[in-house]
Amino acid sequence: MSKILKGAPVAAALNEQIAKDVETLAERGIHPKLAVVRVGERGDDIAYEKGVASRCEKVGVGVRKITLPVDTAQAELTNVLKELNADAAIHGVLLFRPLPKGIDESFVCNTLSPAKDVDGITDASLAGVFAGIDTGFPPCTPSACMEMLDHYGVALQGKKAVVIGRSLVVGKPVAMMLLGRHATVTICHTRTTDMYAVCREAEVLIVAAGRADVVDKSYLSPNQTVIDVGINVNKDGKLCGDVKFAEAEPIVAAITPVPGGVGTVTTSVLVKHVVEAAKKQSMQS
Ligand code: NAD
Repeated sequence: MSKILKGAPVAAALNEQIAKDVETLAERGIHPKLAVVRVGERGDDIAYEKGVASRCEKVGVGVRKITLPVDTAQAELTNVLKELNADAAIHGVLLFRPLPKGIDESFVCNTLSPAKDVDGITDASLAGVFAGIDTGFPPCTPSACMEMLDHYGVALQGKKAVVIGRSLVVGKPVAMMLLGRHATVTICHTRTTDMYAVCREAEVLIVAAGRADVVDKSYLSPNQTVIDVGINVNKDGKLCGDVKFAEAEPIVAAITPVPGGVGTVTTSVLVKHVVEAAKKQSMQS
């Protein structure tokens, strides 16, 4: 039987600290505010937008929602981001991706000022993660994985960590963050051979493949902490992770559930980044 690493207590601890920081900033006349930019009407974007707005409201962070039609021209979208860059009342910007076809996503993302890039979508923010320097912010999901590990006291220094997935949103940045904490990191991907043997060696296993049930018991061993980042819908229409939870739970030392794991923490990390951005911007002005 493994320990179940739920996201709710981690999010609650983060929210408590965020609310205190918001109060302290308010005493100095600073009111952190997030702009949420959505192009089109994707259901998952709308659901996340609602979650973000409600979390912000609970901790006293302002939200400005900007919704653009799906056929918005690239120039119009970049102008919106430039206006937000120049707006001193906005401290962070969340831009939903993927953007509609025909828009150069990399170009648009890099229009955003790294100082307001609270979800790590600019090259400057990602360079900061890779260089271990404080430029912009890391993407929220890998930060949420690190918050989970820290909250539950999982040691990283000198430990063998394996990451499944090499996307710029999750896999690569979380690997760099683990490396920054002195873990010995291996990244697995679709062309890794003997992946189950590599994974069985891991003391910390982060799974971000985006495929339901990709990790079964053959990848697992006792004493492992497993962080399941995947959010998938199974054939019964239910949310599930990338790990076969029922097979993993009797084997490993600790595992995050899906739903109720990393995803629960991601929104709080986003709001934490907004508050940190407001603090940093207040020191520069
Ligand atoms: P992605 O599709 O961009 O990347 C997946 C990566 O996994 C790729 O590098 C691919 O090579 C690798 N991969 C896929 N199948 C594999 C396999 N069978 N074996 C080994 N490697 C494999 O996905 P992403 O954006 O990195 O997201 C990963 C997962 O995390 C998705 O399920 C996504 O929904 C979820 N996600 C969760 C949160 C959260 O808050 N919990 C946030 C963002 C993404």
